[in-house]
Amino acid sequence: MKWISEITITGAQEHNLKNMDLCIPKNKLVVLTGVSGSGKSTIAFNTLQQECRRQYMESLGFHSEHISKPKVKSITGLSPAISVDQNNTNRNPRSTVGTITEILTKLRLLYAKIGVLKCPACGTQIRSLLSNINELEDIQEYDDNEDDYSDDADLITCPVCKKQIKALTIADFSFNNPLGACRRCGGLGYVSELKIDKLIKPERTIAQGAVTYWSESEKKMYTEVIQRAADYYGFTFNQDVPLCDMHEAAREIICYGVDSPKLLQLFPQKKAPSNIAYGRYIGAIPYMKRRLTQQRDDDRYKKQKEEYMTQEVCPECLGSRLNEHARSILLNGKSIDELCNLSIDQLFLTIKQLAENLDQSERVIFNSVFDTIDERLKNMIDLGLGHLTLNRSTPTLSAGEYQRLRLSSLLGSGLTGVLYVLDEPTVGLHQCDTARMIKILSRLRDMGNTILVIEHDVEFMKAADYIIDIGPGGGKNGGRVVACGTVDEIIRSKESLTARYIKNDFINIKKTRGRKGNESELTVLNASENNLKNVNVSIPLGKFVAITGVSGAGKSTLLFQIIARAAQNRFNNSHTVPGKHQDIIGWEHIDAVICIDQTPMGRISRSNVMTYTDIFKAIREIYAKLPEARLHGYEADYFSFNLPQGRCKRCQGEGTITVNMSYQDPVEIRCPVCKGKRYKKEILNIKYKGKSISDIFDLTIDEALQLFQDKTAICSKLQSLSNIGVGYLRLGQSSLQLSGGEVQRIKLSKELEKRKKGHVLYLLDEPTKGLHPYDVEKLLIILNELVDRGNTVVAVEHNIDLIQAADYLIDMGPGGGSDGGRIIACGTLDDIMQCNQSVTGKYFKKRVENEK
Ligand code: ADP
Ligand code: ADP
Ligand code: ZN
Ligand code: ZN
Repeated sequence: MKWISEITITGAQEHNLKNMDLCIPKNKLVVLTGVSGSGKSTIAFNTLQQECRRQYMESLGFHSEHISKPKVKSITGLSPAISVDQNNTNRNPRSTVGTITEILTKLRLLYAKIGVLKCPACGTQIRSLLSNINELEDIQEYDDNEDDYSDDADLITCPVCKKQIKALTIADFSFNNPLGACRRCGGLGYVSELKIDKLIKPERTIAQGAVTYWSESEKKMYTEVIQRAADYYGFTFNQDVPLCDMHEAAREIICYGVDSPKLLQLFPQKKAPSNIAYGRYIGAIPYMKRRLTQQRDDDRYKKQKEEYMTQEVCPECLGSRLNEHARSILLNGKSIDELCNLSIDQLFLTIKQLAENLDQSERVIFNSVFDTIDERLKNMIDLGLGHLTLNRSTPTLSAGEYQRLRLSSLLGSGLTGVLYVLDEPTVGLHQCDTARMIKILSRLRDMGNTILVIEHDVEFMKAADYIIDIGPGGGKNGGRVVACGTVDEIIRSKESLTARYIKNDFINIKKTRGRKGNESELTVLNASENNLKNVNVSIPLGKFVAITGVSGAGKSTLLFQIIARAAQNRFNNSHTVPGKHQDIIGWEHIDAVICIDQTPMGRISRSNVMTYTDIFKAIREIYAKLPEARLHGYEADYFSFNLPQGRCKRCQGEGTITVNMSYQDPVEIRCPVCKGKRYKKEILNIKYKGKSISDIFDLTIDEALQLFQDKTAICSKLQSLSNIGVGYLRLGQSSLQLSGGEVQRIKLSKELEKRKKGHVLYLLDEPTKGLHPYDVEKLLIILNELVDRGNTVVAVEHNIDLIQAADYLIDMGPGGGSDGGRIIACGTLDDIMQCNQSVTGKYFKKRVENEK
């Protein structure tokens, strides 16, 4: 067979791709770049990776219908692909850094094999090494699957008192197994309780919100249900008195439901009703308990969870998740939970010491896993993850940390001939760590792999073997290869936008506007959440402020877990518990707060650009006011695809229906009734300027701007979307189909539109994420405008351009995790550069020197 040195894509047409042809050289570090929405993810994930997956399934004997073929004429030279994107979709609280890197599995093995246990009878220390070393191989196969462990362990005999003791197994150290898990928290490390006083307000009537989470319609409905229960049991129910004055049966049903033991006591002769028609209700407290112990991901759920559940470190295991027995087993004086609470940096140094007092055969076992653990830890440190602990639960990791963690596991796999696809691996990484990231990816390449990286970081591009520039614009203005080749070749391209930025990067540092601010400050006192070391810090108001520092320094903890939460509670009626701090002073200088973090906008198919930005509401009203609509009595609700009046019955306004076929993935097809138009025929007949409501979905934002030019409210929203560079998006584009950068900017535009009165404090989490330098330029214009109008913008950032544009920097560190958590320097970039301890300062100083 001929050696194929390239992956060749021809005729790619997925999403906005314009019949794209593309060659990706193999065994190279290739950067895919271009402005936001140009089609990078489409080519990398929806085309290349999708086709890899499909071919793989086919090779396993699944037919190709099972997994859809991307719209592409052909792809040749494909390798097996592994994608490392940024979605931390892991919501399993039992998953930790230790479990997903498998370092913990190895440590458990060590402890089970060579840990020292105490005889429960006489207290003698017993080294637990089993004679049968051959078992090792078998044991290594185990994963965290709870049911896999066997219970009948061997017995060993205490050499002193001759008592028979159960030998240790891996299960004894697993918090996902009853043998090892803390009995109090079941291995979660925390205990949750419902805040009943937040849920039930006895001094209120139902209408006043006795059950705080009931909506108006729920209040009505449950009043009716309780009335029926009253009829059934035969007690009087007065809905107009406060809960505490109601008949105790009514109160009991509302709070604990008809199955509550107390109700059975009150009416021993009555069986609980089995049907809502006779008053069946499960009770507000059991309902909330059940709802909040499930794992879900939507905003409402998260909000309720924060509002109604306390989550405290388990008082029994202090968060280690393990029971006392597991924690009592030592290796050179250290227990496994101690190791799990060390930062990876410290663990890396400590792990060698465990071998200090081992005998010959114990050392054999130790050595058999040491290299693997050592290498994995080293990889993690190189990827800027030295601040994490093995005990850290996966769902709490930031997107960037999660992606780098997955990368570190892949490095250990030793695979070759693989295509790795990565999405902006530098997210959350300090500029000074980018070089290390590049080195690691180069190592992965040198092992015989192809690395395709979506990136915007100019330094990264300069280090790449090959660059592919997609564009020139976003959406329908993109989807072409503008330039490709080595850095030198790209720079020579006249059409490439990217070329300009690579060239500029060799030029000087730009000056900030150096705004004076308004002389007032917001001051946080004694912040001590996570790794923060009693931090006192003042944020000058009326300025553009960037918080900098290496990954894990404590930036997000300070800005989001503490300041943003406190601000949301104060200004936005939120009820979250801010991270630990003594006080925040200076709120009186601020009138409103807007917080734009990394949470995705409503990730449901029914949310689209129009609904998310509230433009749709205004458009529906325009349609309802048309004479033709009034004639038929079609109110605004008739033009909603989320309400039953006007939408197509068959597809419920989705325009598509999902067909489930046996043994196959469900397939989405156009709705056969409305032909994808989402509405009933009679609704489609109502036209505004010749367009039906369904036609509106297909307009781009820029087109809609024309159509609605005489409607000021709509126009102002559309204009603000267009201004931030997403004018090419279709109004009906589902929020599921937006690129990461697009989502971020739409959120920003929506918040900016709110135009609160007075002094607004904007809190942003890495706003340049997913943005090409060209997009960053546009973003900076918006942010600068906000500050020029007298507001304050505070952003956690790593992006060089943004840092340079900031009036004031707060640099945290010096390192990550326990080595961080302090304020290293504050002031202008010049001030920071004077500070020798500041990693950020040093980085910029070096850049300046290089330019000389
Ligand atoms: P990038 O990764 O370059 O930021 P994407 O490849 O995500 O851009 O998106 C390219 C274009 O395709 C964007 O305009 C985006 O809105 C659109 N798009 C993305 N996903 C879908 C989808 N599932 N259906 C239709 N259009 C999509
Ligand atoms: P940065 O934003 O500077 O990257 P973070 O504020 O995210 O840093 O993290 C600071 C420290 O706090 C790190 O050691 C991190 O692992 C830890 N940390 C952050 N979030 C959590 C959390 N939800 N639970 C436990 N530890 C956390
Ligand atoms: Zn516990
Ligand atoms: Zn339909």
